Amino acid sequence: MTYKMQAAVVEQFGKPLVLKELDIPEPGPGQTLVKTEACGVCHTDLHAANGDWPLKPTLPFIPGHEGIGIVTAVGAGVTAVNEGDRVGVPWLYSACGHCEFCLAAREPVCAEAQFGGYTKNGGFAEYIVADPNYVAHIPAYLAARDAAPLICAGITSYKGIKETQARPGEWVVVSGVGGLGHLGIQYAKAMGLHVCAVDIDDGKLAHAKRLGADAMVNAKDGDAIAAVRKATGGGAHGVLITAPSLGAFKQGVGMTRKCGTRVLVGLPPGEFPTPLFDVVANCITIRGSFVGNRRDMAEALAFAADGNVKADIELQPLSAINSVFHRLAHGDVPSRVVLEFAKG
Ligand code: NAD
Ligand code: ZN
Ligand code: ZN
Repeated sequence: MTYKMQAAVVEQFGKPLVLKELDIPEPGPGQTLVKTEACGVCHTDLHAANGDWPLKPTLPFIPGHEGIGIVTAVGAGVTAVNEGDRVGVPWLYSACGHCEFCLAAREPVCAEAQFGGYTKNGGFAEYIVADPNYVAHIPAYLAARDAAPLICAGITSYKGIKETQARPGEWVVVSGVGGLGHLGIQYAKAMGLHVCAVDIDDGKLAHAKRLGADAMVNAKDGDAIAAVRKATGGGAHGVLITAPSLGAFKQGVGMTRKCGTRVLVGLPPGEFPTPLFDVVANCITIRGSFVGNRRDMAEALAFAADGNVKADIELQPLSAINSVFHRLAHGDVPSRVVLEFAKG
């Protein structure tokens, strides 16, 4: 009997994932096969499984875009990776490589981009087919389980902080201290910034303090905006909104200093009102940021390899995915769950 692989499959939006045995995929020319060691569970996987966004994945699909594993086979013509390499299969699964955005290292917005665990099957499975030109190269001294959260939550929060253009000694707000935010705080500190953490959960805020945040504000407090302005001396130079909550987006303008930049990375479905006078008269920049490019990935991993950033992880087996999703939806995951796969 040929060995099959375990996978967690979205068959219907908003329904539990189905654990299945599937044939192990074969890498075609230019592709590579990765045997999964660990895969983080991102809030995006939950949005994907719920069909939250205007562009929906085609059913059925295997979520997961924080999959780390070992290259076990390469298709014809592959030179970018070798068998035995440890790689990550990220959200930016592939891009065209030659459009105006790819040429400017803005490949996440390439019209031809494919997304891991969304338009391509992802890491909630024992094997993943990947594009060797877009995999993350995992430094030797990082364990798979520690690397997993970095290839989405890490790169996204790191790039988002860079996009605020806040300089060492200035303030950033990190709104939402979950998977993205708990890493964002660490990147910001490593980059010499002062950090004001904002969340609705006091436990998450206590965690933010342990991670080095200089000020903590509960967004549910009536005067949360005033508290941020006081802590930062008039508003933060950069505000990174990771929270999957429209309320957090609404609050963000008031937390931003004059001439500051607010970077949006959280992706709750919907819209939020923008007080035009405040944005215009205070010269505030509002900017979206979508993961990062391959250079950002290498940088985000290097911070961890240098020991400046470490994901807080809770290990679970693939079979626990539905209870993990339930907890994630209710804010009951402290930082990041990483699904760990059996060796051998
Ligand atoms: P998570 O569930 O781990 O963390 C979310 C955190 O936000 C929790 O700590 C929660 O308590 C907090 N929160 C909820 N409401 C809040 C509010 N009103 N104010 C402040 N904090 C609040 O989620 P995650 O995995 O960190 O992902 C967060 C969001 O980022 C999701 O919408 C996800 O899809 C999106 N995302 C975007 C990108 C990108 O490239 N732009 C990449 C990855 C994830
Ligand atoms: Zn993600
Ligand atoms: Zn392109």
